[in-house]
Amino acid sequence: MSKLTLDTIKGLAPDSKSIANAKTVADPRKWSSLGVDADGVLWGEFNGSDRYSLYASSKSPATMTACSCPSRKRPCKHVLGLLMLAVGGHPIATKEMPVAVREAADEAYYESTFE
Ligand SMILES: [Zn+2]
Repeated sequence: MSKLTLDTIKGLAPDSKSIANAKTVADPRKWSSLGVDADGVLWGEFNGSDRYSLYASSKSPATMTACSCPSRKRPCKHVLGLLMLAVGGHPIATKEMPVAVREAADEAYYESTFE
């Protein structure tokens, strides 16, 4: 398992605008809840202008990522922002993902991989 870095996150992004947008998402004040489960899966409820539930594996390869937002870009800026928060050293407590978060995010489950 290689460790997630900012470069890996940039490599996942569909375009450079997504990275710029993800930086604004990677603000702890915009999250009503955040956690990482025992398997290293980050999850959160984003509470910006809209509310979305999402999760993303924080381990390489990130084969599980999901977000309830309607963006056609995958991974979306919320997933990228969540990963950036984790990489940026923001403390994220080990917590089981709430069932409601998983269910909402699973509506838009997608896979991506990185080295
Ligand atoms: Zn999203």
